[in-house]
Amino acid sequence: MKALDELTFDNRFARLGDAFSTHVLPEPLDEPRLVVASKAAMALLDLDPAVAETPVFAELFGGHKLWAEAEPRAMVYSGHQFGGYTPQLGDGRGLLLGEVYNEAGEHWDLHLKGAGMTPYSRMGDGRAVLRSSIREFLASEALHALGIPTSRALCVIGSSTPVWREKQERGAMVLRLAHSHIRFGHFEYFYYTKKPEQQAELAEHVLNLHYPECREQPEPYLAMFREIVERNAEMIAKWQAYGFCHGVMNTDNMSILGITFDFGPFAFLDDFDAHFICNHSDHEGRYSFSNQVPIGQWNLSALAQALTPFISVDALKEALGLYLPLYQAHYLDLMRRRLGLTTAEDDDQRLVERLLKLMQNSGVDYTLFFRRLGDESAALAVARLRDDFVDLAGFDAWAEQYKARVARDGDYTQEQRRERMHAVNPLYILRNYLAQNAIAAAESGDYSEVRRLHEVLTKPFEEQSGMEQYAQRPPDWGKHLEISCSS
Ligand code: AMP
Ligand code: MG
Repeated sequence: MKALDELTFDNRFARLGDAFSTHVLPEPLDEPRLVVASKAAMALLDLDPAVAETPVFAELFGGHKLWAEAEPRAMVYSGHQFGGYTPQLGDGRGLLLGEVYNEAGEHWDLHLKGAGMTPYSRMGDGRAVLRSSIREFLASEALHALGIPTSRALCVIGSSTPVWREKQERGAMVLRLAHSHIRFGHFEYFYYTKKPEQQAELAEHVLNLHYPECREQPEPYLAMFREIVERNAEMIAKWQAYGFCHGVMNTDNMSILGITFDFGPFAFLDDFDAHFICNHSDHEGRYSFSNQVPIGQWNLSALAQALTPFISVDALKEALGLYLPLYQAHYLDLMRRRLGLTTAEDDDQRLVERLLKLMQNSGVDYTLFFRRLGDESAALAVARLRDDFVDLAGFDAWAEQYKARVARDGDYTQEQRRERMHAVNPLYILRNYLAQNAIAAAESGDYSEVRRLHEVLTKPFEEQSGMEQYAQRPPDWGKHLEISCSS
């Protein structure tokens, strides 16, 4: 276990120099205070969890203090936003404080979001509000607990600093951890600004530090791109299987590591709705729930374009062609497991599609349906769940098919079925209304609800006593919350 001053820095990205990032110091928040910390994320840095409660913790992650070895930098990148190219974005309110390696030899970027203005702030104030910082924190840790690749969050620091959005709010900072903060948009920036030397340097950097195994391949860059395609296919399959809607899949928000990144107006589905749009600025539904799948491929094509100096167009196209089949295989594999199936049959895809259609038409709670399906034998579970459906004949037909499929699947006890299904079907997810309750309390100075919700979400598959209220469908007021995009 380490104290805060015992972190070991090795700032590899900063060493790439001023063409890639700019030195900027964090702008401190007034009266910084700990809102919530993740013990699991602290463990990634070998930090003793007790240090979260010390004043120096809030000072470090509230922008007041800095390690001597930290080299805070704002990264430059660009990206396609809602399909249109924006030539220069960059860290407008976040800073890469430095890179730390832990005792296991893993490197973690420390990225402080809400740290003040940078050369890339454009019209923004460089700040993040408490509301959005809590949302990013909870989402990062909740997705991780579900087994979905994501950046992590160490803590949220609140403050008395006023920040103006639609109304006056308070500034906060979230400390984000990831093995890299390099986005698709980094490659696009150097490609479209026609800086081939820097682009080659960036590609070498990513290959050496993040895809070293691809070095062994005959075409290392192609192998790296293929791996990025594969990771994205898997990540998005998990989003779809668990009902996660990212909301702003711009290429500047897509990580080169294939992890969920840059949380904004995201949401988990309550009722299943393939057409759900969580981002209220997304008038055309470009980033609707079901569109995430083709958008994943669109984004990879944008990255492919930026990699044309290194890889032939034919090879890029071929690698892009891997995306959909890989996505489908991962998705179907997960959905089979969610249905309690251990074998594969050709018709399983249709079984899943028919169920989702029925759920869509009846507004069935996506998470609770699967959880309850595992509570009992297939026959008892479908008999109980039947009441949630409007199209009873349709559901009965599906249920017959499902029971027959389960019978063909294998011979196992109900205890085995429950255990297996509950291990993949969460009871607790980060519902918008739960986040909203925690945020409202935190905005009035009570952080206990954020902390409790965070605790519950770290064990989403485990039934926790006294926590029934976190495993309910949303109340009417919580169903269609407008999540502000101004974060
Ligand atoms: P996002 O939608 O959060 O991914 O942000 C898109 C771009 O806008 C990034 O370059 C951000 O750094 C920048 N940005 C977002 N909010 C602010 C803010 N309050 N101040 C400065 N820059 C911001
Ligand atoms: Mg972003």
